[in-house]
Amino acid sequence: MGEKRIIYLDHAATTPVKPSVADTMWSCMNTHFGNPSSIYRIARESRNAIETSRAQVAKAVGAEPGEIFFTSGGSESDNWAIKGVAFANRKKGNHIITSAIEHHAVLHTCQYLEKEGFTVTYLPVDHYGLIDPADLERAITDKTILISIMYANNEIGTIEPVAELGAIARKHKIPFHTDAVQAIGNVPIDVRTQNIDLLSLSAHKFYGPKGCGALYIRKGTRIDNLIHGGGQENRRRAGTENIAAIVGMGKAIGLATADIEWHNTQIRTLRDRLLNGILEKIPHARLNGHPEKRLPSNINISFEFIEGESMLLWLDDEGICASTGSACTSGSLEPSHVLLAIGLPHEVAHGSLRLTLGDANTEADVDFVLEVLPKVVSRLRAMSPLYKGEKEEKRNV
Ligand SMILES: *Cc1c(COP(=O)(O)O)cnc(C)c1O
Repeated sequence: MGEKRIIYLDHAATTPVKPSVADTMWSCMNTHFGNPSSIYRIARESRNAIETSRAQVAKAVGAEPGEIFFTSGGSESDNWAIKGVAFANRKKGNHIITSAIEHHAVLHTCQYLEKEGFTVTYLPVDHYGLIDPADLERAITDKTILISIMYANNEIGTIEPVAELGAIARKHKIPFHTDAVQAIGNVPIDVRTQNIDLLSLSAHKFYGPKGCGALYIRKGTRIDNLIHGGGQENRRRAGTENIAAIVGMGKAIGLATADIEWHNTQIRTLRDRLLNGILEKIPHARLNGHPEKRLPSNINISFEFIEGESMLLWLDDEGICASTGSACTSGSLEPSHVLLAIGLPHEVAHGSLRLTLGDANTEADVDFVLEVLPKVVSRLRAMSPLYKGEKEEKRNV
């Protein structure tokens, strides 16, 4: 008996490490064990490996290598950017602007700062999940010290008008941070032309290792350290470097940003085949997020009259890995804050499914999902008292 086929459609939660990235990390672990902070030759080799990776990350976002700092991932980068800028500018003001649909690494950090005496404006979004630049401009006060708006949303895939938001921040001389964890590799990023002062990245979202990320800090930005200790990362982030992961991140970001157009066309074609198939085969379904301004790999869809978590269990039974929203909130009964922010009623938000495609998915994967998902949805609807009511109402019309 062969092993059950797994169809992985949760690339927004994490991606598998590419074999060539794993090879690079493996050979790095086998050759570079010297502590990069020491002075002998094998230490220099470790240091050189880190600097090569730093240059690769810098190139991918249009920064200088000296503006890239390695961290333990997206969450640390978001924490550092927000707490670091907030505390460094405390004397100037205490007002932070972010959005209602940020990742929890941003939202919970802002909520923590509210307890520390900062005030936070959470900008609303329209029903596509888009922020209106005019809302940002109106929210700015003379106490505003930081604006943090994500580049692309991890649940609904909506891509924000980052360059426009950055230009507003620049005009008012306020540091602008963007969480680009989902965006890198999907949209061309250039921190100079897009007026970005701080940008968060995470390697495991682009086929690199988990537990490794980076924060871009534009030269001259006032920011406190988050991790105190030794003098690593140009005295900005203490702790002996995770050399193999950093080298893997550099390799992975090079691959992820090498040919964005070609890559997007491939993924988008597959995504649209899946999306159109679902909309065709399943009644009472609606796409969440913007139809065009969205990540090419993302589908987020609500099915009325059913519950997302039970859908996931049935799909898992068929070897299909999907998600209801963000991996971080699964298991909780609260519906996604992102789906509520775009105006979905609670019960509809509960019946939502996120499918995020990746490099290894095939047409056969998509066709299998199109065979299984309609059956799962009808089976669950057959058990739902809400759906029975709906059918009766229709009959009565
Ligand atoms: C995954 C993710 C994070 C957290 O990154 P980690 O490396 O897992 O800590 C932050 N922001 C967004 C938008 C994400 O998708």
